[in-house]
This record gives sequence, C-alpha cells and structure tokens, in this order.
Amino acid sequence: MSKFFSPKYDSLVPYTPGEQPQDRKYIKLNTNESPFPPSPVAQRLSRQAAGDNNLYSDPECHELVSVAAAKLGVAQDQILFTNGSDEILNFAFMAFCDSQTPAVFPDITYGFYKVFADVCGVPYQTIPLNSDFTVNINDYIGINKTVFIANPNAPTGIALPLEDIEKIVASNKNNVVVIDEAYVDFGAQSAIPLIDKYDNLLVTQTFSKSRSLAGARLGFGVGNKNLINDLKTVKYSTNPYNVNRCTMYAGMGALYDNDYFKENCNKIIQTRELTAKKLKELGFYVTNSKANFLFAKSDKIGGKELYLALKEKGILVRHFDTQKISDYNRITVGSADEMQVFINAVTKILEEVK
Ligand code: PMP
Repeated sequence: MSKFFSPKYDSLVPYTPGEQPQDRKYIKLNTNESPFPPSPVAQRLSRQAAGDNNLYSDPECHELVSVAAAKLGVAQDQILFTNGSDEILNFAFMAFCDSQTPAVFPDITYGFYKVFADVCGVPYQTIPLNSDFTVNINDYIGINKTVFIANPNAPTGIALPLEDIEKIVASNKNNVVVIDEAYVDFGAQSAIPLIDKYDNLLVTQTFSKSRSLAGARLGFGVGNKNLINDLKTVKYSTNPYNVNRCTMYAGMGALYDNDYFKENCNKIIQTRELTAKKLKELGFYVTNSKANFLFAKSDKIGGKELYLALKEKGILVRHFDTQKISDYNRITVGSADEMQVFINAVTKILEEVK
C-alpha cells in the first residue's frame, strides 16, 4: 500500500475473482462461464462495430435497449445496461444504501455484496441461511433495509419461487429490493414481470453466463423508471461510456440469436442434471441447483482436498475457505465432455483416498 492510499480503505478486503492460472491448460469449472462460444451473430456484429471504435459508444445504448426492452416486455426507460452486472450492483449500493439505509443479504451469497458495501462505506447486515442453505424469507419481511438476494443464490444454486420473492418485495415498500438474477436462465423464475406492480423492485441480469459473453462485460438492471433514473445519475457521475461499442453490438447479436441461447441453456441444464446424478452415485451431497453450477460435498474427502486433487489433474473448481461451506466445492457445468472428464477424475481421486 502506498502512503497515499486513503485511510478510508484501511479495512477494505477486495473481492477475489476465481483463479485464472496460466501455467498450463485447465478444464475451467471455476468461474461459471459458458463452455460455448458467443453466438455467431454476436461475434459478427461485434466485429463489424470495431471499425467505428474511433467514436465513443452511445451512452444510452439506444439500439440495445430497444431490442432488450421488446424481448423482456418492459419499457425502454425501465432498463439500464452496464459493464457486467457487477457494475449495476455497485450502482445499486451507491444509489440505494447509506448509513440510514443499510444493506442486508444472506451470510452465504455472492461474495461481492459485502465488498460493494465496504467500498461504498455503507453498513450491512448478513442473515444466516437455513441449515439446508435455503433463504428463510421471513427474515426479510419488512426488514427496513436495502435487500440484496441472488436468485438462484450463489454458490448454492438454490432458487426461491417467485411468490416468495414477491412477499419480500411487497413487505418492504419503503426500501429497494434487488434481485440478482445472474443465473436465472438455467431454471429459476424471473421477477421481471413484477416491476410494474412494485416501484421498489430492481432486477439485475447478466450476459456473462447464459449468453456466453463474460469477456465482453454486459449486464443490466430492470425496474421502475425512477429507480433506473437514479442508477443513471450514478452512472453519468462515474462512467457514462460504461458499455463499449463492440459489447453493445455483441449483446444485440446475442438477443437476436434466441435459438442459440435457448439451445445452450438446455444443454447446460441437461448436463447439470446428469452430473448431479453421477456425483450422487459417488456418494456426494448435491444441493438442488437451478444455476449453471453444482454445489457438492463428499464425506470421503474434504472440500479443499478435492479441489487440490482436481487441480493437479488439470481441472479447476471453486473452493471457498469459509467456515460453513468449506466442505463443498462449486463446480461450473461445462460441456458434456468436460463433465465426463471431471466425473472420471473425481472417481479416481475417491479410489485413491480409500
Ligand atoms: N451476481 C452473481 C450472483 C454472480 O455470481 C456474478 C458472477 N461473478 C455476478 C453477479 C456478476 O457477473 P457479471 O459482472 O459478469 O455480470
């Protein structure tokens, strides 16, 4: 740390992204990326747009907003695109939390929430999940704080039904409820249909997972137009050109090519179910994931031990050294072939520990 770094960040612990080691080629099942390349339409539109990169991108992303709004059935002033959904989440912490209105989220959830709270200097409360890792919605009824819920949750993959989300939103009319739907396309119900009914609901989604554009960085928020305007105020006060030209066109291509998106989601869901079945046959406990990853533990081998043994075999999964979940690993669902290699490796590792 330099002597110039503001003391306000003395206790800031930054988010640790999943490792991206360069020492050898790994099967990457650790950062919830899609195993499939971006849609050919997304690639073509993005390449074409590169020729205009001497010009700034459109800060309002008009063309993308118009395609997305039509697809989602929302008005154009109810949507804001950002540099990944991390950015809209950061904007939400900046816009809707302060010392009078702290943030609240589960103790086991997306690890970035507490970092956003810390970097924005806002207090936050964490609420323990039930022992089966489900969210107890009663904990959030009328809680009087800005609520952040990932649905499906990460790293557990467990989803709440829309009725439960609605109960939380309806009971917190004076507070914003942010539903982070980064993984919703793999089997959960979106809360987007509720945005006209509740002016306190913000739904965030990403193109990083189901639309194969993690490297392009594209996410968005959908909500009441006044919420979106607040978020725009924050955006225009930090980085007006937050979505670059190539990314905006890649996003449009991904939306046009709906068949490709649907087909890939279905493949991931099928591979997830098959991999979960095989893990269970190997004696693992596997949560009921509706995301593009599995969360699993074995009583034959510790979480960290399995993570290290897989890494040695060239397979990366995500292990969290956090007390309540240290027995588990989060395993991104890759292609069917990758998952077969993974299952073979796990089988071998378990034989070796016998
Ligand atoms: N929310 C959750 C729950 C996530 O796991 C992630 C991915 N790390 C994000 C949001 C952010 O993804 P991105 O910025 O790539 O849209």
